[in-house]
Amino acid sequence: MWFAAYDDPRFVPVVVGTTAISMLAFAVFAAPMTWIAARDPLSLRRFRIQSRRPREQQLVASSIARWLGNNLFLLGLVVAAWPLLAMSNLRLDAPPSALVAVAQVVAFIYVDDFLYYGVHRGLHSPFLYRHVHSVHHTILTPWAVTGHFMHPIEFALTGALALLPATLLGVHVSVLWAWVVWRQWEATEGHSGYDFPYSPSHLFPGSDGARHHDAHHARVKGNYAGFFAYVDGLFGTFARGYVRGKKLE
Ligand SMILES: [Zn+2]
Ligand SMILES: [Zn+2]
Repeated sequence: MWFAAYDDPRFVPVVVGTTAISMLAFAVFAAPMTWIAARDPLSLRRFRIQSRRPREQQLVASSIARWLGNNLFLLGLVVAAWPLLAMSNLRLDAPPSALVAVAQVVAFIYVDDFLYYGVHRGLHSPFLYRHVHSVHHTILTPWAVTGHFMHPIEFALTGALALLPATLLGVHVSVLWAWVVWRQWEATEGHSGYDFPYSPSHLFPGSDGARHHDAHHARVKGNYAGFFAYVDGLFGTFARGYVRGKKLE
């Protein structure tokens, strides 16, 4: 019964496909954004979030190692949990209309960021901070490549969180993939050190783009939402000196 779940035709596209797409999306987004931070071109300085020059980043090689290790760890967990996931309504049949697909992805973007706020605040409790989340806060002035630089438990938690709404709702696998690609853009942009006004994250009401999470790394306390500043506004947890749309002094 338990093992029969692995004969399900959705197993490979949902578990292996989603992991591969997620890893590839992060690599494709993070490589050029990291190159920009390393080169610090004059023409892009006005988009740089922090006023100081990016520090020489010591974490490039270890970030790549963590990207690989964390994704393989999460893949193992999802493979083990597949018999549970297989009970969901994740679908391989005809994909929904573009309008429905976009509406579902946008809903996931808002729901995930809201839930992430709660989990992230929990990670800042003294015990979890010391044993888990402090790894991610090694990064003070992030570069895009550091987006997956975190403790495996934190990576598994955020990964499970991202999968939860899509699994509960039972969406088409193509919608899951589109959502995961977007989620990797969030992970990349939030750590890129640059706020480009034409980034798609600025299309979402309530968002402050990459500035929001960058300020979290600079201050450590406050700005717990992913990129939706409105959530921290709602709970009164802005980082010290943080003003939406402005550089941190
Ligand atoms: Zn971060
Ligand atoms: Zn944090």
